[in-house]
Amino acid sequence: MVIELTTSPSTSGIYRVTRTFRFDSAHCLPQHDGKCKLQHGHSYEVTVLIEGGDLQPQILGENIPNPKFGMLIDYKDLKTLWKEVCGHLDHVDLNPLFNPIPTTAENIACMIFKLMEPGIYKLTGGNAQLRKVTVSEQQDTTAEFEVIRVNV
Ligand SMILES: [Zn+2]
Repeated sequence: MVIELTTSPSTSGIYRVTRTFRFDSAHCLPQHDGKCKLQHGHSYEVTVLIEGGDLQPQILGENIPNPKFGMLIDYKDLKTLWKEVCGHLDHVDLNPLFNPIPTTAENIACMIFKLMEPGIYKLTGGNAQLRKVTVSEQQDTTAEFEVIRVNV
């Protein structure tokens, strides 16, 4: 059976993709009134959410077949971008990198958003945008930074 998708599979909608990355690092929250003020480590899990209304076209410019045809963004490119702009977060003490900003999961999510956003825009020619970054320090907690777009 062949499913006909000669036109857009949805009349009006939005595509969303996520990819999850992991890194291990140390940090502390010196002003915290509990154990978090002491140096400790986490195996951080980071999920980026990307969205856009259109998928990559079949043909690029001068009849060049597009290897990203039908994708919002290539997962492989996301992994490459992650390594380029967030690779330095792995196996380090996060506090000097963020100083004077506290290394809470919320701030880490915001920082990763700012590091990843320009690359995602560039990779997709502005066709897709980073919407949200979720950071988990442990299995039962998450913190998110989500952009609020006024004119979408
Ligand atoms: Zn911690």
